[in-house]
Amino acid sequence: MRLHVKGLSLPDQQPVEWWIVDGVLSAEPVSGAETVFDGGWIVPGLVDAHCHVGLGEHGPVDVDEAIVQAQTERDAGALLLRDCGSPVDTRSLDDHDDLPRIIRAGRHLARPKRYAPGLALELEDESQLPDAVAEQARWGDGWVKLVGDWIDRQVGDLAPLWSDDVLKAAIDAAHAEGARVTAHVFSEDALPGLINAGIDCIEHGTGLTDDTIELMVEHGTALVPTLINIENFPGIAEAAVRYPSYAAHMRDLYARCHARVAAAHDAGVPIFAGTDAGSMVAHGRIADEIDALKRVGMSPTDALGAASWNAREWLGRPALEHGAPADLVCYADDPRQGAAVVNNPALVILRGRVFA
Ligand SMILES: [Zn+2]
Repeated sequence: MRLHVKGLSLPDQQPVEWWIVDGVLSAEPVSGAETVFDGGWIVPGLVDAHCHVGLGEHGPVDVDEAIVQAQTERDAGALLLRDCGSPVDTRSLDDHDDLPRIIRAGRHLARPKRYAPGLALELEDESQLPDAVAEQARWGDGWVKLVGDWIDRQVGDLAPLWSDDVLKAAIDAAHAEGARVTAHVFSEDALPGLINAGIDCIEHGTGLTDDTIELMVEHGTALVPTLINIENFPGIAEAAVRYPSYAAHMRDLYARCHARVAAAHDAGVPIFAGTDAGSMVAHGRIADEIDALKRVGMSPTDALGAASWNAREWLGRPALEHGAPADLVCYADDPRQGAAVVNNPALVILRGRVFA
């Protein structure tokens, strides 16, 4: 089937027309195309840069449930997902051409008892990290996920999992495999070691300081703050009755989070939209994360770009261009207005197939 869409593009607000043949975009008219959208806004398929397909509210889910999660993301317009670690092998989803494209980071890598139970590969000795990273790099789709810090129950507070020299060797090992590395980080202390070791991205990053923001700018490190998941910090603190220092730390990180992410944005750290869907956050909430990014000072255009064209460029996937896969979202109104528009696309088009 040949399709035709016509509207205004973003970020440049220019009139555009695309033709779609065999799932691919054409800038040149093709004969016999049916016009399925005329008047409104046309945006490259949205990106959730941090989610977990295969994880639900109660931990790992079966493949059928993972498919439902991916459908939920698609219907919200999220057509490219960076899966930031999943214990469930979702590679069979790649055979479903009605599901979003997934960039996998393999399994989370952690130390014993230093992450949510049952989710990570737990390394008995930290010297195993470089080999484990290389293995996950070969398994995944270009990313590896480390747990950078977590509560250390001996200490009673958040603490780094890895020493600096091990991190350097591990991140070098990933880069040698052609993969990028990211890490879950809540607190202040784990950040310098990770950034100095050349990590490519920081997830959450609530403990950023002026010094570590400057380090990120120097190293070109990206940030995916997952702001809608940070809203769970007060509840996590409240549940941690046996660890008062940890609870106080989580409350403090929560209180300062918006100011720290705003400072990172002001300093020029590249920020992308990720919901962290898959455990404490439901799938399909990219619109809420886009709005949250506006609340830390991103312009409406930049906040949408952080979940669309800019995120695609960062992940090495095309936006809207001649010959690119036809993955796009059409809105009757300007999607920069906010979640009310973003959550109600007129059309979602994935691999040239229309989902209303
Ligand atoms: Zn996550």
